[in-house]
Amino acid sequence: MTEIQTLRARLQSLTKLGSALALMSWDEEVNLPERAHEYRGEVNAQLSSELHERITSDELTSLVNKLADPEVFNSLTDDEKVIVRETKRDIDQAKKLPTEFVERMARLTTKAFSAWVEARKKSDFKIYEPVLGEILKMKIEEARLLGYKDSPYDALLDEFEPDMTVQKIDAVFKPLAASLAELIGSVRGSVPSLPARQYPLDKQVILNQKIAAALGYDLHTGRIDISPHPFTISLHPTDVRITTRYDSNDFWGALGSTIHETGHALYEQGLPASEHGTPLGEAGSLGIHESQSRTWENFVGRSRPFTSFLYPQLAEHFGAQKFSEEELYLWLNRVQPNPIRVESDEVTYNLHIIIRYELEKDLIEGNLAVADLPAAWNAKVKLYLGLDIKNDAEGVLQDVHWSHGAFGYFPTYTLGNLYAAQLFATARKALPTMDEDFAKGKFKGLLGWQRENIHRHGRRYHADELIERVTGEKLSSEYLLEHLAAKVKLNY
Ligand code: ZN
Repeated sequence: MTEIQTLRARLQSLTKLGSALALMSWDEEVNLPERAHEYRGEVNAQLSSELHERITSDELTSLVNKLADPEVFNSLTDDEKVIVRETKRDIDQAKKLPTEFVERMARLTTKAFSAWVEARKKSDFKIYEPVLGEILKMKIEEARLLGYKDSPYDALLDEFEPDMTVQKIDAVFKPLAASLAELIGSVRGSVPSLPARQYPLDKQVILNQKIAAALGYDLHTGRIDISPHPFTISLHPTDVRITTRYDSNDFWGALGSTIHETGHALYEQGLPASEHGTPLGEAGSLGIHESQSRTWENFVGRSRPFTSFLYPQLAEHFGAQKFSEEELYLWLNRVQPNPIRVESDEVTYNLHIIIRYELEKDLIEGNLAVADLPAAWNAKVKLYLGLDIKNDAEGVLQDVHWSHGAFGYFPTYTLGNLYAAQLFATARKALPTMDEDFAKGKFKGLLGWQRENIHRHGRRYHADELIERVTGEKLSSEYLLEHLAAKVKLNY
């Protein structure tokens, strides 16, 4: 066996351990008995630390370093170079954080999560403040361990979106924030609503399966289950599962998130199975992943042609509707600032992300003290969304992310929207009959375009490079802004 063959074999066997962990985390969200969490936590910790040890083992490190030596590296094929480059990156990153640090962070985030739950319940930031301060200290230490050039926040961002920096994000978020805040000022007071009715859950389940399959989700290599927080998990391109949650008063709650998760699943089902286990068989980045889900949810699912496809199916599954196709379209695209991020519309959602990005960057760069966070939060919500925050629970305490230590994660949501808009504009040019196709329930054209331009590459290109190669331009806020401005116009 040559060295590169040995590396492939090692990575493939490591990935099988990863698949076991993924299956357990699916099970945890979907099936776990109430009192089984503690033991499952122990099993997860054991397997995760074994996986970490194997990834950072001397044997694997020296194998990758040998292959990364310029003389050897230059003799590799392009695919092999990607595998070596990305594996080396993973190992180097993993080795920068000592086991002692990782364990300390795990203990601290467990403590922080319970403090956050209690603080949110009592709507009292003071309960959360000390432990959040400790997390922040550790994240600053983490940034130092990982290394950075300009901002410590760059090091944290890079863990979720390789090569992304404050400088690159500011270049797109700043114009987006200013234009969106202005646009929202023009939204009318009243928002469209649909007449109240019941949507039986068994019928919703059938509709969700049907729509997901129509979009291209292969239910022979996937399945849809129920969990409180919808998610997608992939063990292999032949085993990609999604979840949703149902509400009998609202068909879109489940369907919208099924379409979103289907977008994630289509990406995973489209990764090259022959490269499973190597970086070529893995998704590009969190932001690119999110761009796929948001393309299907917002650019397809909330489009006028998709409404034409969906409307008759609502009648078929739930009986005649007391609203028109056009009213459905306007309802799906209603815009109304909401203090809660996860209940926000497509337009104001991005302002929520920008608020979090600006605050966490200030915290990490030492420009904002944890004690001043609630006031800073409320001021930004007033500035960008024009809303007065009544209490900590509907303000600074609404998201779980910081208690998990996830700083640098929020931007990937809006990056996903930006990538989606720019990629979709390119796809539209390549697929002139897209709108007629969507109205007829034909989505193969778009999926084929994604497979060809995005899915098959795995981690070959980092996000900014992929965007530039596919769209011929650097990342720009222009495409998303144009898309959102059209949505706001529906709400005048
Ligand atoms: Zn998502």
